Amino acid sequence: RPHLRLQIQISLFGDDDRLVVAKDVTRLYQLEQMRRDFVGNVSHEMRTPLTVISGYLETLVDHGDELPPKWRRAINTMAEQSSRMEALITDLILLSRIETGEHTADDTLTDPGALLRQICQDARTLSRDQDHEISVDIADARLLKGDEGQLRSAFSNLIFNAVKYTPAGGRITVSWSANRDGAHLSVKDTGIGIDPVHIPRLTERFYRADPSRHKDTGGTGLGLAIVKHVLINHDGNLEIRSHIGEGSEFICHFPKERLVEKSPEPIRAGD
Ligand code: ADP
Repeated sequence: RPHLRLQIQISLFGDDDRLVVAKDVTRLYQLEQMRRDFVGNVSHEMRTPLTVISGYLETLVDHGDELPPKWRRAINTMAEQSSRMEALITDLILLSRIETGEHTADDTLTDPGALLRQICQDARTLSRDQDHEISVDIADARLLKGDEGQLRSAFSNLIFNAVKYTPAGGRITVSWSANRDGAHLSVKDTGIGIDPVHIPRLTERFYRADPSRHKDTGGTGLGLAIVKHVLINHDGNLEIRSHIGEGSEFICHFPKERLVEKSPEPIRAGD
């Protein structure tokens, strides 16, 4: 028998009266779980044949000089499209794993400063020819309780999006800070910005602010859905601020209970 899932809503009237409504959402929850499992299984099954196809296409691309130009173009396009599909399947598998992993890895520690510096370095390397200025400021040295793999996916998606949606020469500012409520990651760019009507729906799978603008960005449309679910697993939430034509800021908030002091270096004999 499945666990009973109830959604409870409490309304207050005056000083003493309360209305409690309990709704049985067990079936809805089961259907949602079936959908997740189905997407995860299909993605897994598709990965193997696609890897074989991509492998053969790569061999053909490597031997492009021996092929007539018309064939070469067709093969290059097929190779490009199959690597897009591989990226999509990788993200679908990642998302279904993150969605099912309820509050995973609470006992492992991640160094957010080191992680963010590393991702920014990768972003600089990738966007070298676009002359973006990418700066990173780490104002709190504590560790974060959480899964490094999941946090890496979330932070990379935000930072690579900032690069993708900022024209050449723009500025991307990444900052990690903490106050008495908790820790905050801000990824701010001077890019194309987002119309406010789209903001509430941006973390839905495959939702795009303006599909016509995104033909060439090469994204999978799952990046912000991944960010949202990683934050749910870490008791955090995402705030989005943006002005069209001026830029965007994505802020991840983590509760203070997730911050842990770095343990002091052990004192070695002779020190
Ligand atoms: P995609 O693969 O399309 O980038 P995401 O889930 O990562 O998918 O983002 C969803 C949509 O949010 C994007 O298609 C884009 O419209 C918008 N978006 C995300 N990040 C930014 C940003 N930094 N600046 C402007 N628009 C953004």
